[in-house]
Amino acid sequence: MDDKAAPGSPDYDVSIVGGGMVGASLAVALGPTGLRIAVIEAVALGDAGQPSYDDRSVALAYGSRRIFEGMGVWPGIEARSATPIHQIHISERGKFGFARLDRKDTGVEALGYVIKNRVIGEALLGVMQGFKNISVICPATMKAIKVGADAATVSIEMQGEKQEFRSKLVVIADGGRSDAREKLGIAVRRVDYGQIAVVANVSIKNVHHNVAFERFTPNGPVALLPMADKCYSLVWSVNPQEADALLSLSDDEFLKRLHNHFGDRLSSFVKVGKRDAYPLSLIQVDEHVRSRVALIGNAAHALHPVAGQGFNLGLRDVAVLAQVLCDGHDAGQDMGGRLLLEHYARWRKRDNFVVTSFTNGLVRVFSNDFFPLTVVRNVGLIAVDLFPPLKRSLVHRTMGLAGKLPRLARGLSLQ
Ligand SMILES: Cc1cc2nc3c(=O)[nH]c(=O)nc-3n(C[C@H](O)[C@H](O)[C@H](O)COP(=O)(O)OP(=O)(O)OC[C@H]3O[C@@H](n4cnc5c(N)ncnc54)[C@H](O)[C@@H]3O)c2cc1C
Repeated sequence: MDDKAAPGSPDYDVSIVGGGMVGASLAVALGPTGLRIAVIEAVALGDAGQPSYDDRSVALAYGSRRIFEGMGVWPGIEARSATPIHQIHISERGKFGFARLDRKDTGVEALGYVIKNRVIGEALLGVMQGFKNISVICPATMKAIKVGADAATVSIEMQGEKQEFRSKLVVIADGGRSDAREKLGIAVRRVDYGQIAVVANVSIKNVHHNVAFERFTPNGPVALLPMADKCYSLVWSVNPQEADALLSLSDDEFLKRLHNHFGDRLSSFVKVGKRDAYPLSLIQVDEHVRSRVALIGNAAHALHPVAGQGFNLGLRDVAVLAQVLCDGHDAGQDMGGRLLLEHYARWRKRDNFVVTSFTNGLVRVFSNDFFPLTVVRNVGLIAVDLFPPLKRSLVHRTMGLAGKLPRLARGLSLQ
């Protein structure tokens, strides 16, 4: 896609800063509307160093599958690889409580799917290429944004040259460390968790039966997401010193350490792939929109990966913003008008709040060794396991099916 770099017309309806998993999803969602869209992405898409489409995998909630279906992206993802999650086993190492979430409680074929970020990227780019109304401006770095009464002006640098163009709306999708957000002076609340996620693919000896594991330990949670061929995607959150140690161990020592840490729930770990590290923090903004500006994805909220919710939340931003813009466009409204954008912000408020609080709460509650709290949280796990309405409500929310759903989240196309 990077050779489709030259901006066409200098004027767009919507310019999207950041062509990562969330920004590219918005472009594809808006493709069928015929709106003129620009995607400005700093790193050549398809490049091995592309940060959004790296070697990680995401647990994609069932509700996100529906959004991708509505966008026409799901067949491309499913054809490449999507491992269904049939059951999630949640427990605390060395304690009595545990909970099992099962697809049988939901009436759908899977609680979610494990998909490589790279596969999501390829599928999005494949569909994006089919839309003549989407210009991918890449590799190009956003340098400044000026908001005027009728349009926002985005200044970029591309192959050493400066350019600028105007659009009715600029969408900020440049990730958790968003430069665009900073340039606009949008305040963030940032909490450093003091944890690093060590990520790798690990193979086990026996088949995994599509069970995902979330195991809390005093040093941080360990998540194992089932992939093809007896393989798991591991996200092991630890303090920075421990992360350094885990990264420098030999493969055999690493597998032994993982087994000691995770316990005997799975057959033995036999192989580990390349290990990477991601520092973890919570990032929140209060201001999701301004006149001619909207924030989506990690630029609006970056979460701890403990519950696998970050991208799913960002994709729901996409589904709602795309519908608000599409309906506004059909009604002849200004794409960057504050009233229209506030509709998006209001619609997303509850889901953002609940998922962020839930994720942050999990990290806090399970990293505290105060004895009464360990008892309460383990009783809580058992309650979830044994009390069907509580379990259904939790599953419904984590599958991205709670609240008022936009058309894409019902698997319907926008137009
Ligand atoms: C270890 C780990 C595991 C995770 N697991 C899950 C999971 O299982 N499920 C889940 O839902 N979520 C998960 N997440 C969260 C998920 O990865 C993120 O929510 C998601 O990648 C955010 O996508 P984004 O497009 O908003 O931001 P990013 O992926 O950060 O993309 C931002 C894009 O903007 C570009 N950019 C930046 N600055 C500029 C600029 N100035 N000009 C132009 N372009 C720019 C970047 O090159 C990049 O392509 C996980 C996160 C981590 C760290």
